[in-house]
Amino acid sequence: MTENKTDILSLNLSEIKSFLAKKGEKEFRAKQIYEWLWKKPVSSFEQMTNLSKELRTLLKDNFIIQSVKVEELQISKDKTIKVAFSLIDGMLIEGVLIPSENRSTACISSQVGCNLGCEFCATGKLGLKRNLSVGEIYHQVVTLMNLADEKYKLSLTNIVLMGMGEPLLNYDNVLKALEMISSNKGLGMSPQRVTLSTVGLPRMIKKLADDKVKFNLAVSLHSANDKKRSEFMPVNKRNSLAELSEALVYFNEKTGQRITFEYLLMEGLNDSLKDAKEFAEYCKSFPVKINIIEYNSTNDSRFKRSSNTAFDEFVTFLKGRNLVVNIRRSRGMDIDAACGQLAGKKKTN
Ligand code: SAH
Ligand code: SF4
Repeated sequence: MTENKTDILSLNLSEIKSFLAKKGEKEFRAKQIYEWLWKKPVSSFEQMTNLSKELRTLLKDNFIIQSVKVEELQISKDKTIKVAFSLIDGMLIEGVLIPSENRSTACISSQVGCNLGCEFCATGKLGLKRNLSVGEIYHQVVTLMNLADEKYKLSLTNIVLMGMGEPLLNYDNVLKALEMISSNKGLGMSPQRVTLSTVGLPRMIKKLADDKVKFNLAVSLHSANDKKRSEFMPVNKRNSLAELSEALVYFNEKTGQRITFEYLLMEGLNDSLKDAKEFAEYCKSFPVKINIIEYNSTNDSRFKRSSNTAFDEFVTFLKGRNLVVNIRRSRGMDIDAACGQLAGKKKTN
């Protein structure tokens, strides 16, 4: 009968208080419950061990904790761990833990699928099934954090919203989850260690600016030429590069933050020197950092990884223009855990 019950993670502290007051329970219990939900997050009421059995039962009769369950876990040769999470309605999403020498990063999903249809992306082929709840976003982080500790004795240092989905199309839930991730009432992680990656929706980027967010913003650019970008990213047909640039100028002015651009190099499509020049021009309006990403194969044979020569020439050109360029080599490729390969493959039924 879980269907009719409210997700307790959607309640704030005062809402929990008034629920308890109505049931004749002591108000201070609300703070304890809230701590179990966010600070030492548990996924069942039984685990709230400092509450009486009666109170735990009362909560269980009225609420659910809408978190995620580890359905399958795959560990790559390079130690990357891909987790298939199942949700309350049986849907699957994916999250990835990427450990390295000096950091460990959780890559999490924001939606089940995505309806923006970028041609090179496996998630885009799924369409959008639904948005994730605040708890489903939060608990991916909690689970990956626990895994980092259990498997590698590492604490989680970074979070990227680069799994399945477009975070800015699930704005409220994503922002609430990120707020609790950085709040001292929650996981207490610095927002500077959190990066939200978006396809680049101008209206929503302006909203982020107005909300004065403190986390990093990464934009998946992949081409600074409208005609080309629209060919493999249909979203560009409705949101031109000029509009995107204007929104990014606004974001930089309001938050003082620089913009990270993700640029996926695909052979013959966006990896020429002309492409690099257009990209460098586009970077002139605001401070940027660039991540050049290797293309990871999906089932679509139209797209190929750029040759090493083209890759190096592209990077050298940008560096020659004094741009900050990082190269993002793929991790977890043997288990399809790399960017753009997340498609809930486990789901064979
Ligand atoms: N929707 C958001 C976040 C999820 S996608 C966005 O588009 O930014 C996360 C990153 O993976 C994006 O930069 C996306 O362009 C990239 N990506 C998609 N398909 C890929 C592929 N096949 N190989 C490498 N990166 C890919
Ligand atoms: Fe959606 Fe991002 Fe994939 Fe594009 S790249 S289809 S926006 S998840």
